[in-house]
Amino acid sequence: MAESRTRIDALPESPVVLGIESSCDEMAAAVLRDGREILASAVQGQERVHAPYGGVVPELASRDHVRVVSDVTEAALREAGLDLDAIDGVAVTAGPGLVGSLLVGLSFAKALAFSRRLPFVGVHHLVGHLVAAEVSQTPGRPPLEPPYVGLVVSGGHTALYRVGSEGRPELLGETRDDAAGEAFDKVAKLLGLGFPGGPAVSRCAEGGDPRAIDLPRPMSRSQGLDFSYSGLKTAVALEIERRGGAEGLDEGTRADLAASFEAAVSESLVARAVRAMRAESSRRLAVVGGVAANRRLRRDMAEAGAREGFEAIFPAMDLCTDNAVMIAAAGTRLLRRGVRDDFSLEAFSRVPIGEAPWRRSRDGGEVGSAAAPVRVDA
Ligand code: ADP
Ligand code: MG
Repeated sequence: MAESRTRIDALPESPVVLGIESSCDEMAAAVLRDGREILASAVQGQERVHAPYGGVVPELASRDHVRVVSDVTEAALREAGLDLDAIDGVAVTAGPGLVGSLLVGLSFAKALAFSRRLPFVGVHHLVGHLVAAEVSQTPGRPPLEPPYVGLVVSGGHTALYRVGSEGRPELLGETRDDAAGEAFDKVAKLLGLGFPGGPAVSRCAEGGDPRAIDLPRPMSRSQGLDFSYSGLKTAVALEIERRGGAEGLDEGTRADLAASFEAAVSESLVARAVRAMRAESSRRLAVVGGVAANRRLRRDMAEAGAREGFEAIFPAMDLCTDNAVMIAAAGTRLLRRGVRDDFSLEAFSRVPIGEAPWRRSRDGGEVGSAAAPVRVDA
């Protein structure tokens, strides 16, 4: 056992870490060297599984994950040109997410780490999204490192964080109702554009006039750093109704509605981000999560940064939506700090950022339960 102990505790200088992500409707595996160098990234989406239902069906998501988890991991190893002997550690998303989906990745990662006696760590999904901005390299710029302000805009979350110099995120503000990505998905449905919604609305908006339809700017009159998107979604629904429903819309009006909606979301995200950057006196803003793939948002935020004197940093397009590179990257940072999880690690559907209710402290005691989470190295 002494030998296996050493292997589990030790990490080489430039560790090769396998990351696994299955929190929602993507099964993903990635191999990362030294926390930044992407050796492989495999993502298998489930659009076809969920499209008939217009949204993710949790039971179908976990069943599909079970079907593909081995293949996706093998594909990542093949792409990296490595076998399991070359892996120095395993990182896996432990939450937040759909519990059934999370459990598939988690069980697979545990089995792998156990059988190979590898260091093993659970990762907070949103910390993963933030770290994606640290992995992506803008040509001619040094890679992003904490401290910075992070804006997470995904299907499930819209929130601003202060990422401290040790990499620990603290919440500054978040949505009071729908997430921005969720609003994209719902508006896509209202416009009859199908699933997944974000890219479809964005494509449709290309041919439209963003000033054609007067939509409210969410929370524009409120102070603070919170967001809200359910009112905007309702406003779009009313505009469609006024025109006799989605079936009766001509292509031009549909595009105008999509463009006006996209502009309203982008403007509200930019306004909140600018307010946060001023309040934090920060010069670097990481914009991450699926909606960070939106071209209009990328352009508007970069322009605001140029005006305000901050740099807006976006992950590469394929690292905005769910992927395992970000999990391997966040996991490498934890493993390097000496953080390890044991095989009692559970899946959590809801976890505040900066918290790891699944983790035991290094002296062996429990550091938290779902009822009383304790801040540790999330
Ligand atoms: P989650 O982690 O919450 O599952 P992801 O980070 O994978 O979410 O992002 C998915 C969300 O991003 C979806 O709501 C989708 O509509 C949105 N999205 C993806 N691409 C775009 C885009 N180009 N424009 C706007 N929204 C997008
Ligand atoms: Mg995500």
